[in-house]
Amino acid sequence: MTASKYQIYLASLHWKQLRKWTLKERGGACEECGISNIWAVIGYGQPLNVHHIKYERLGHERPEDVQVLCRRDHELKHFGSTTLPDLSALYWKICVGIKEFPDELWSLLKAIEQLPIVTTKQLSLPLTA
Ligand SMILES: [Zn+2]
Repeated sequence: MTASKYQIYLASLHWKQLRKWTLKERGGACEECGISNIWAVIGYGQPLNVHHIKYERLGHERPEDVQVLCRRDHELKHFGSTTLPDLSALYWKICVGIKEFPDELWSLLKAIEQLPIVTTKQLSLPLTA
């Protein structure tokens, strides 16, 4: 499949639904480092990505063909390196710390998680391949 056909596929309803289903099914977290969607947006400027492990079954992927990744782990999969810092340790420290916080703060953080995601496209930030 050419790069342009792949881009067209990524804009298809099928892919959008599969992407949404995969994110929900995998608990809305990066399968490598465990950060949540809102933290991926804050830390890496993009919602969680759904990565194709295999391209052979495009259009009729099996669950094992795709993986939920943050932008940093997605870059590591494709390029073997990244300039993005690893924020997962900080994320997990905050998650553990939240348990010590008052209920009001916990409610506030849960409310923030529910805010609509603004994509990098909407923010006019550069996207990586
Ligand atoms: Zn990650």
